Amino acid sequence: MPPFDLPEGDPFGPHNLPYGVFSLPGSQERTVGVRLGDHVLDAGAAARALGSPHAALLGRPTLNPLLAAGRTTWSQVRGALTAWVTDPAHHETLAPLLHPLSSVSLHLPFEVADYVDFYASEHHARNAGAIFRPDATDTLLPNWKHLPIGYHGRSGTVVVSGTDVVRPSGQRKAPTDAAPVFGPSVRLDIEAEVGFVVGVPSRHGKPVPLTDFREHVFGLCLLNDWSARDIQAWEYVPLGPFLAKSFATSISAWITPLEALEQARVSPPERTHPLLPYLDDTALEPAGYDLRISVAVNGHVVSEPPFSTMYWTAAQQLAHLTVNGASLRTGDLYGSGTVSGPAENQRGSLLELTWNGRDPLELPDGKRTYLEDGDVVTLSAWAPGPDGLRVGLGEVTGRVTAG
Ligand code: MN
Repeated sequence: MPPFDLPEGDPFGPHNLPYGVFSLPGSQERTVGVRLGDHVLDAGAAARALGSPHAALLGRPTLNPLLAAGRTTWSQVRGALTAWVTDPAHHETLAPLLHPLSSVSLHLPFEVADYVDFYASEHHARNAGAIFRPDATDTLLPNWKHLPIGYHGRSGTVVVSGTDVVRPSGQRKAPTDAAPVFGPSVRLDIEAEVGFVVGVPSRHGKPVPLTDFREHVFGLCLLNDWSARDIQAWEYVPLGPFLAKSFATSISAWITPLEALEQARVSPPERTHPLLPYLDDTALEPAGYDLRISVAVNGHVVSEPPFSTMYWTAAQQLAHLTVNGASLRTGDLYGSGTVSGPAENQRGSLLELTWNGRDPLELPDGKRTYLEDGDVVTLSAWAPGPDGLRVGLGEVTGRVTAG
């Protein structure tokens, strides 16, 4: 019976079941939902109706309690949800609790604690190096192959997909300018990334080893690290990105649990430099993920970055993030860094796609160097799933509005 009978090969079938938070029309009440096809299941109401012990965990306005519950509970809840949506005996009970996606509002799915962004694509780092340091002998800085480079971002401005992004203003100074000027950014860019969502906290002073990644990280989502390149170029030396990125970071409304991505695990690229023991994953199971990302501007696909090419894995990033004793909190979010592959049509930023504006993109609605007011950027992705199925990642989209 519909909506349980999904089209064959639906990337949001029972093999996927990402989590989000939604509200019904006219209601302020937010609650955890699970996506099935183009519907959302009210997970808390389903748990109550079926007498599940997880009703209290799911009938919440945010995913944080579920995130904090830990891997054993994550598996139990996912197992229960899978059984509910696949067993026809439950369908009569669940049908009234499934709402068309087009009829609900989707919200930021968890309260973001700390937000960190990394820089894990060698292709992106080399492209950025070649653009910003054209005279350098090596496009990579000496530390890049030894540690996952990152910076602390602004969690309070992480927004859910669909939220408008106001063009930021700030200082910029071209090398040829005599003095800085203030005004709306004229080089507003995107960064196609994957965000990792921490569930289980860690103890202050105790590093999280590579092998504990899956005990702490609940799932992942697409992330757009909006970046004002002109503000960034003037401000970033010597302490790194600041106002060029803190104005907005968009994430998908849907968090895909790592358990849905077992078939997508792949080995990262071969390491060309020996790693210190806390980062050395050569003897461990593959920690990369084969996610096929697509970047569209105003509906026109401009790039298809492959996440499998990322040099540093999310497990290494977590190990590095905590190796000094910094602790994790439920709701911590960390971005992978811009995902760029080796090919020109696999670059995850306009900085690279247009080579800092030198080579404009030809879009159906005109040429584009950086983003114009009204432009809509949408990231989507899928991963290999069980039995040849695709696991769809929830899209992340945002429209640029005038500052
Ligand atoms: Mn970034």
